[in-house]
Amino acid sequence: MCIFCKIVQGEMPSNKILENDDFLAFHDIFPKAPIHIIIIPKEHIENFQLTPPDVMQKITPFIQEVAKLLELDQSGYRLITNNGKDGGQEVPHLHFHLLGGTKLSWPQLAQDSAKKAL
Ligand code: 5GP
Ligand code: ZN
Repeated sequence: MCIFCKIVQGEMPSNKILENDDFLAFHDIFPKAPIHIIIIPKEHIENFQLTPPDVMQKITPFIQEVAKLLELDQSGYRLITNNGKDGGQEVPHLHFHLLGGTKLSWPQLAQDSAKKAL
């Protein structure tokens, strides 16, 4: 069973923010911003590429509710999903990183940058 399934099952502790029948939001153990929340479906889905559209439809209002609860809806936030090896995904269970609480930088993500479009 993957780490996030263990968190869903209660076999691993987590600092929960919000939960319903289908989704769970909890604090990231190694926060990369003042607010860093992980949002997952309770069902094990490996990554975004394998995610059925109805899951995305249902998770959207849940993510928006988490952002409101944390009062990020007005100040703004970043929503990230790392997909697969090149995406840097470490936990093979679909999750969204909700990051905020400060003005986030937009880092250089790769050494081999794409050619300029113009
Ligand atoms: P990924 O690199 O797969 O996109 O992100 C995985 C995230 O899960 C990382 O930010 C990491 O800090 C977080 N994480 C890994 N293991 C645990 C855990 O056991 N508990 C919590 N709360 N977060 C975890
Ligand atoms: Zn899982």
